[in-house]
Amino acid sequence: MKILLATTNKGKVKELAEMLEGLNGRGQRITAGESERLEVLSLLDFPEMPDIEENGDTFAENAFIKARTAFRHTNIMTLADDSGLEVDALQGAPGIYSARYAGEPKDDERNIEKLLTDLNHIPDAERTARFRCCLAIILPDGGETLIEGTVEGTILKEKKGKGGFGYDPIFYLPDLGKTMAELSGEEKNTISHRAQAFHQALPVL
Ligand code: IMP
Repeated sequence: MKILLATTNKGKVKELAEMLEGLNGRGQRITAGESERLEVLSLLDFPEMPDIEENGDTFAENAFIKARTAFRHTNIMTLADDSGLEVDALQGAPGIYSARYAGEPKDDERNIEKLLTDLNHIPDAERTARFRCCLAIILPDGGETLIEGTVEGTILKEKKGKGGFGYDPIFYLPDLGKTMAELSGEEKNTISHRAQAFHQALPVL
């Protein structure tokens, strides 16, 4: 059976393919029989598909815009994610504008600088935030499901760590005593908002 991940991001495709291979992040096997094997495709396999405009007002709307367009075009079971950072002191910003918070072209360093400036006056206790991932799934019969994963943290006043991408160097995980950028790839793929959403999606798939 085929599954289409509605993205051109090779990292996301690799993450999902690895999870479907059977490792669920805690080292247990997923018990799908060999005959149930899923072949993971991405938008890179459909270069003729038109660009999808993400003009929704929420992560969920944007995820469904991508998933429905890809499903209409291919008729293959489709999964699409949309994610970003929500900062409580900024009433949920940057939210759906996370990738381009400091404007075009998108630039992780400038986004971090803008966020730190916007939070300049905010004391430590009020710098709470979360990464959110919304995963829209269109099943082979056209049925739709939405799954969400979040990871809670706080925004530091300066960067720490070299791993990850985006806002990872300023996103501190109090339970682990590290920023997201100080985690190994494997650790991040166990606890991240995307990993949580993907793991919840496995039984649906
Ligand atoms: P995307 O739509 O999932 O590609 O994510 C949109 C934006 O949200 C990214 O460009 C990042 O700025 C931010 N973001 C999403 N996930 C992460 C993450 O795991 N770490 C850091 N930033 C993230």
